[in-house]
Amino acid sequence: MNSVRASAPLLENLTVYDPKYLPAKAYLSANENPHNVSEEVRREIVRRAKKLSLNRYPDPLASDLRAMIAEANGLETENVLIGNGGDELLFNAALAWGGPGRSFLNIPPTFSVYENNARLTGTAVVNIERDANYEIDEEAVLARMAKGDIDYIIIASPNNPTGKLADESFLLRLLEATDALVIVDEAYFEFSRTTMRPYLAQHKNLLLLRTFSKAFSMAGVRMGYILGDSAVITEFIKVRQPYSVDALAQLVACCVFENRNSFEHGILDIIEQRRVLFEALRTTPGVKVYPSDANYILFKVKQAAAVWQKIYDQGVLVRDFSQAPGLEGCLRVTIGTAEENQLFLRALKQALLPERG
Ligand SMILES: *Cc1c(COP(=O)(O)O)cnc(C)c1O
Repeated sequence: MNSVRASAPLLENLTVYDPKYLPAKAYLSANENPHNVSEEVRREIVRRAKKLSLNRYPDPLASDLRAMIAEANGLETENVLIGNGGDELLFNAALAWGGPGRSFLNIPPTFSVYENNARLTGTAVVNIERDANYEIDEEAVLARMAKGDIDYIIIASPNNPTGKLADESFLLRLLEATDALVIVDEAYFEFSRTTMRPYLAQHKNLLLLRTFSKAFSMAGVRMGYILGDSAVITEFIKVRQPYSVDALAQLVACCVFENRNSFEHGILDIIEQRRVLFEALRTTPGVKVYPSDANYILFKVKQAAAVWQKIYDQGVLVRDFSQAPGLEGCLRVTIGTAEENQLFLRALKQALLPERG
């Protein structure tokens, strides 16, 4: 036969995730760290990699790394699980807490991966939209959760792409009010300097998601982790692919995590650059800017798609969200080095000049 029957019906309305990566002088579209892992740490990675037995399967749960992450967070090993990027753990969440007949509460606009994973696993999606300033409608979320049929909820804090932390007292009210799995996505917590870690012991239904991709300059290698109750972690272990985190990724992540203090200076610099860039955007006519606790800033302009193109024509790649539901007119810029941010600002100001006739 030279034909193939249709794929699973739930794939029909799914769109392929597209990071829209294009060649540029300044990459400010993917919330990456502007600096590579240091020369010194990369040398150590190479030294250790030479001794690696590539013919052997890796340790499925990355025991060394897992123990290190547990200790750094004042937890036991069984409270930690690593994944092939935070993205794999988000997918595992949908496998373990979603599925046919089950429901996920989403708070858009937010990270589109959450809703995609739910759809992919046949999980019903309940959307409670953010308000015009992208704040969570807290009472609406609490009221919807009170119905008791939601199985898991994910709250990005800071939220991607809008930038702000969820209010801690809201998260605590939510945790008190539900036995649904509450995943707080802390992918950017190194930049917000805020975590729900202190509340893990009191709330078995609280799960924190973290990643090496942003603050730790490791987007290219794929490493994320979750922190939570050991019974929750056990359910995640049941659904994961045993060897999803390969030996090289484990080795690189161990080197980086052992040297995590050396990233602190760069993180503080990004936080300072965020302040500078926010101020510059705030005082640029024609730009509405949203406050950020992360390493990126969302802003709104007229004719955003055309402005995006003009910025790109100057060699600066930012992320265009202007066609995304709830984000009409929005672009997102990642905080880069001081030089990259200047390049971006110059390109933006140029792009906003009225056309000469
Ligand atoms: C980047 C990101 C992640 C995880 O990314 P990985 O590279 O897969 O670790 C998770 N959540 C949000 C909101 C993110 O922006």
